Amino acid sequence: GKQQRLDKVLAHMGLGTRKEIKKMVKAGHVSVNGEAVNDPGTHVYPGRDAIHVSGRQIEYREHVYLMMNKPQGVLSATEDKQAKVVVELLQPEHALFQPFPVGRLDKDTEGLLLLTNDGKLAHQLLSPKKHVPKTYYAIIQGTVTEKDVKEFQQGVTLDDGYHTMPGELKIRRSGPRSEIELTIYEGKFHQVKRMFQAVGKQVVYLKRIAMGPLKLDSSLEPGSYRELTKEEISLLK
Ligand code: URA
Repeated sequence: GKQQRLDKVLAHMGLGTRKEIKKMVKAGHVSVNGEAVNDPGTHVYPGRDAIHVSGRQIEYREHVYLMMNKPQGVLSATEDKQAKVVVELLQPEHALFQPFPVGRLDKDTEGLLLLTNDGKLAHQLLSPKKHVPKTYYAIIQGTVTEKDVKEFQQGVTLDDGYHTMPGELKIRRSGPRSEIELTIYEGKFHQVKRMFQAVGKQVVYLKRIAMGPLKLDSSLEPGSYRELTKEEISLLK
């Protein structure tokens, strides 16, 4: 990594505002590699230099990886003039990393949304060439049958003429309101809703339950999130 100002690094680690941090450094609470420093502008190598604040070592990291159960009614975006956006649901200690959602879920879709400031990872997951699987649970208005399963296996033609890649449809409950799971390997606009539209059925509830190797943590209520574990991060890379 490159050299950065000490006060900037400490602010990035959530130790306070720039003003609070300057005061703290000037007051002699901070050391770098065992040497007391008083200048907030001291240049350090974050991640390489050992930085202590009041005797406690600061764990530096550049990236944050969050798994959110996106609630309905919130946009998967970083800003919007009208609507509430997912990054507004983050605690300040996570927001300061400026994470962004990896891909999009519709405003009325719930479920697994990864947020990170790791642009390289986001790019890999979103690359159309990678065909990262995404699994959805849905409630469908209409009786989903084995015929639909077979059609989805062949791919279906959407309203704009696009023929989708095969999708794996599993019927959880068949009836006038069916419950299904669908795994797709691409991400066209409103894809799941439009695939059902193509077979004459309507999605009335949609929730993403998996993306690549990540499964939505069932303990996360809509609107809540947690950091990925080390294991989950290494599965993604
Ligand atoms: N497909 C949809 O139709 N909507 C989503 O939010 C995700 C996939």
